[in-house]
Amino acid sequence: ADALLEIRNLSIDFGSPRGNIHALRNVSLELPAGQVLGIVGESGSGKSTLASAVMGLLAENAQVTAGSIVFERRNLLTLTHRARRSLMGDRLSMIFQDPMTALNPVRTIESQMIDIQHHEERRRSAKRSRAVDMLKRVGIPDPQSRIGNYPHQFSGGMRQRICIAMALLVKPALLIADEPTTALDATLEVQIIHLLKDLQREIDCSILFVSHHLGVVAELCDRVAVMYAGEVVEQGAVRDIFHKPGHPYTRALLDCDPGRIKQRTRNLPTIPGEVPSLLGTKEGCIFRPRCPHAFDRCVHETPGEYRVAADQIARCHLLDRVGMVAA
Ligand code: ATP
Ligand code: SF4
Ligand code: MG
Repeated sequence: ADALLEIRNLSIDFGSPRGNIHALRNVSLELPAGQVLGIVGESGSGKSTLASAVMGLLAENAQVTAGSIVFERRNLLTLTHRARRSLMGDRLSMIFQDPMTALNPVRTIESQMIDIQHHEERRRSAKRSRAVDMLKRVGIPDPQSRIGNYPHQFSGGMRQRICIAMALLVKPALLIADEPTTALDATLEVQIIHLLKDLQREIDCSILFVSHHLGVVAELCDRVAVMYAGEVVEQGAVRDIFHKPGHPYTRALLDCDPGRIKQRTRNLPTIPGEVPSLLGTKEGCIFRPRCPHAFDRCVHETPGEYRVAADQIARCHLLDRVGMVAA
């Protein structure tokens, strides 16, 4: 089957006074239709850059230096402005960490939810009642009257629910969620994750879910990609990777008490050593300065991909040593 989203060898730089920042290096990912793909990695590893690239929301100083992002068989990087706009309201939508990024503070929820259905040929009253239904679905109390309120009249958790309602009103094929629960307390986070999971099944969409929380990823995602310093070091089925990580970085993330992962660790555990600079070219394995298993080959040679399980690929020379097959 074709993947809904297929990212191939994507590299993205940000121009800076100190030279080019290589935020993504040779990233390849696949998201089959109807699945949830988690993206994890520490701060600065490139997760938001990846999500923004798919959404067409990269910063002005960003430059795609290589690769493609194929969504429903079209390369998003070469679409016209117009084609992209029509895709965004319809097949693709996004929820952000801060709901106010998506909500207009000076307009009512009603007018914003009606607007987002602009491409649908329905009467205004029909659009309104769909919006009310959706608000009810995401757990907004008394949506019939609350829909006339402004964003500031809702709590943070309620605002995030409203954003989810808006993002899903268009029944997208792909929802991109960049840390949508990071600003919420743990109880709200659990509720929102369950809500997302239910709606994802109901609408049968795919989700690209960026997160710091391994517990949330374990619960919500089918597949996961682990990012380190702009590269995907490991990817595959969540149950395989969490059960038997193939890359030393993934192992280090999971090596903390497994009970803590279940209790939804708020942040990724810290790993000794320094985060590498993203400036300039790199020789060898990017994880080498922090890797407890580094050996001579890791200094000069960039590791290739090895297949660890049927749906699990990792980039590490150790896997070659133990006889894994190149992916
Ligand atoms: P976080 O977990 O903190 O959200 P992230 O994984 O989302 O981190 P990105 O925001 O994708 O990381 O950033 C990747 C790298 O690119 C970082 O080093 C960041 O400082 C840099 N970067 C991001 N946006 C820009 C920009 N517009 N200009 C210059 N550098 C940028
Ligand atoms: Fe560690 Fe070498 Fe594997 Fe990199 S390639 S993760 S340095 S063992
Ligand atoms: Mg980010």
